[in-house]
Amino acid sequence: FSNPNSGRVFSSFDRSLSSAAVGSDLIRATLFPGDGIGPEIAESVKQVFRSAEVPIEWEEHYVGQEIDPRTQSFLTWESLESVRQNGVGLKGPMATPIGKGHRSLNLTLRKELNLYANVRPCYSLPGYKTRYDDVNLITIRENTEGEYSGLEHQVVRGVVESLKIITRQASLRVAEYAFHYAKTHGRDRVSAIHKANIMQKTDGLFLKCCREVAEKYPEIKYEEVVIDNCCMMLVKNPALFDVLVMPNLYGDIISDLCAGLVGGLGLTPSCNIGEGGIALAEAVHGSAPDIAGKNLANPTALLLSAVTMLHHLKLHDKADRIHDAIVNTIAEGKYRTADLGGTSSTTDFTKAICDHL
Ligand code: NAD
Repeated sequence: FSNPNSGRVFSSFDRSLSSAAVGSDLIRATLFPGDGIGPEIAESVKQVFRSAEVPIEWEEHYVGQEIDPRTQSFLTWESLESVRQNGVGLKGPMATPIGKGHRSLNLTLRKELNLYANVRPCYSLPGYKTRYDDVNLITIRENTEGEYSGLEHQVVRGVVESLKIITRQASLRVAEYAFHYAKTHGRDRVSAIHKANIMQKTDGLFLKCCREVAEKYPEIKYEEVVIDNCCMMLVKNPALFDVLVMPNLYGDIISDLCAGLVGGLGLTPSCNIGEGGIALAEAVHGSAPDIAGKNLANPTALLLSAVTMLHHLKLHDKADRIHDAIVNTIAEGKYRTADLGGTSSTTDFTKAICDHL
């Protein structure tokens, strides 16, 4: 199999190579193994990188035991500094307690590092059959505000309020990223996903900013689609879309829907893009507590996220080699994890990928 997306889907993270070099030819990158299945799938990435002789030295950081007052979360200041200095990193999933507790680790990372765009490619893997065989979408999610601003409080007993913040600055920034992405990746359409018929002020401003940016890119078709209709259209015919840009919460939901179109959360990568060219790759999925520690997790999503990181570092040959080994292993069908209908453990599947390099 050749990589159908080579140089198209993944070579998106355009930033000249400026990461910290280690010794003469190793590049230092931050690694957060994360929670739940995170350490198991991070181990897969390390193993595959070793087999493919990728010139990366990982700087591993674990989530702390106590809240760091400088970050207001379990994520330490030193961990954040590591990403800032290296400029590039890979992150495993981080669990967040529901409805209580400390500031979300993911929100801390996004806010502190100003990771303003979350790019989520979703495409059919050759050799893995789902209802569709031609999915090739890019979801670009605004990553710093919207419903995820973390501004929630009780108004009076029995009444709570959660603030959705949309700013012109963040909307223009993510729209610009989406159009630039489309232009530089041979994609011809950007769809802004919204609910401005109800959220007139917030989503209304988001759309206004998208329209403004669209005018600068006359060669890219621009359309606006209400989110509920977008869900129906995606499930009926995903080929109707190309690049989708949207506020934070919608991006979180739509990208899981897209994952379902191609085989599930075990397969879909992402990369967070920050000001100053920082790139922090991570899988779309969470810590999967139901299968954590059982050697059952599919490492593909984190591996493909690591591939986006390699493209970002302009290590395209290594990236393509690992990508093809993953695709070929899955297509061959002998080694697949349970989420793809197989019986392989994480470690056996990882070994098979190494054998396909
Ligand atoms: P989840 O993505 O962890 O799991 C959803 C389902 O998908 C589960 O059945 C799980 O077993 C399966 N799954 C996910 N990844 C898989 C993989 N690689 N291989 C095989 N199966 C996989 O979502 P959740 O259960 O809603 O969330 C669990 C925790 O993860 C929560 O604390 C949540 O806050 C956190 N979370 C973190 C991130 C992140 O770090 N970016 C993203 C989403 C959720």
